[in-house]
Amino acid sequence: MKLSLVLPTGLALAAAAVFTGGNTTEGYALLGHSLDLNQRDFRVFNGFTNTGANNNTTPHPEFPGATGAVMAIWKGAIEWGSRLHGTGSGDTTQSGGLGSGGANFDPSFQGEANVVGNIGDNICSNISGNSGGVLAYVESTGSGNWRMRFYTGWNWADGPGSIGFSQMDIQSVACHEYGHSLGLGHSGTGAATMAPSTSNGQTGPRSIHSDDIAGVQAIYGAASASKPIITSISSINIGSITINGSNFAATNEVWFTREDFQGNGTPLKVLNVPSTNGGTEITVNVPSNARGGDILVRKTGLNGGNALSNAWPFDVTTTQCPSNEIVCTNLPNSTGVPGTLSVFGSQNIAMNDTILAAGSLPAGEFGIFIYGQGDQLLFVSDGFLCINGSQFYRLDVVQVDMFGQVAYALDLNDLPPGGEISAGETWNFQLWHRDTPAGSGHANFSNAVSHTWCE
Ligand SMILES: [Zn+2]
Repeated sequence: MKLSLVLPTGLALAAAAVFTGGNTTEGYALLGHSLDLNQRDFRVFNGFTNTGANNNTTPHPEFPGATGAVMAIWKGAIEWGSRLHGTGSGDTTQSGGLGSGGANFDPSFQGEANVVGNIGDNICSNISGNSGGVLAYVESTGSGNWRMRFYTGWNWADGPGSIGFSQMDIQSVACHEYGHSLGLGHSGTGAATMAPSTSNGQTGPRSIHSDDIAGVQAIYGAASASKPIITSISSINIGSITINGSNFAATNEVWFTREDFQGNGTPLKVLNVPSTNGGTEITVNVPSNARGGDILVRKTGLNGGNALSNAWPFDVTTTQCPSNEIVCTNLPNSTGVPGTLSVFGSQNIAMNDTILAAGSLPAGEFGIFIYGQGDQLLFVSDGFLCINGSQFYRLDVVQVDMFGQVAYALDLNDLPPGGEISAGETWNFQLWHRDTPAGSGHANFSNAVSHTWCE
């Protein structure tokens, strides 16, 4: 069964000339509009109702924070990007990798929306029914404002690999429809993504054809030699990243993906960010309301598509210091429950504000906080020593108060030899304490908790 990929309303004539009327002309067709830099955003309102549309629950490092139909649509749009999206991986059905346009054109994924939005909000959403063979459509004013609708009446599949014969591929249809959004009509080249129809089970349109590439380059121009390029993103500090690449301007905008359901699709921008090392490096603080998504760099003050870089995947969790974790839970002490341990502080090593706090302990007993990097489960006295016995370090003697609690300010500048702590390191902490109420000579331990310091 052939199914139509419908035309943008308001632009039906331009595209219909290719689609119908026995036109034998090969090649792409232009709708006559283009997306300027403030319309490069797209969002997804995931209202697909069939199971196959959202059963890909496996995260992919190149599409951080997205699964299911959201990831599939992100892949469909990003295929039009100027160069490979990260490594280009994420689609095993195409050999060339995702990001094939080679034009002065790059989309900016802006997360999830929870509204259909108006034309111009650039949201991909769903609509009930199947409209007599129509899979999806783009509504556009013809001036570069758009929104995309997928009919839920089809047996949609989110991939990520091949799909069943009875299924319709979200990624392929998204790639086609986004082609309309950016200004392409239907192509007379049958193998093109912008060909007017597709079939169940097909994934070929996920990968744009040389004819589609010629089309996007006809609208936006082949990628300029001066266009900024991102080639990697690295992070060693809490909350900041270094963007590596080329052609960055003296001052730049760095575009992040905004948190889901926030804003109007406008990328989350950090303004006036300088580059260093001859325009090859940018260091920027990550805004607190950024989510995993894509980063793009725009040369400040320039408007053409050649002023905006390719989109590079960015996992916001890589800029966050790992959270504390309970390494082991101990046996009850004489209070009837296990001793607890919490590690407080900013995790910023320069702040030197780490506090070790233990509770649920026998009042008045003496103890020692210990720490190390290995872990084990060694029964000692009445509980478990959870820190590797051959490599742990002891802090000062403390005394449990009348409430069964004890706290200790860890001074990173005054640690035992061999137990020095550096940024990027994770250490495990535990309290050993005497437990006289349990019997003469008895002792026990609190839970053990890990804590990581960063710069
Ligand atoms: Zn179409």
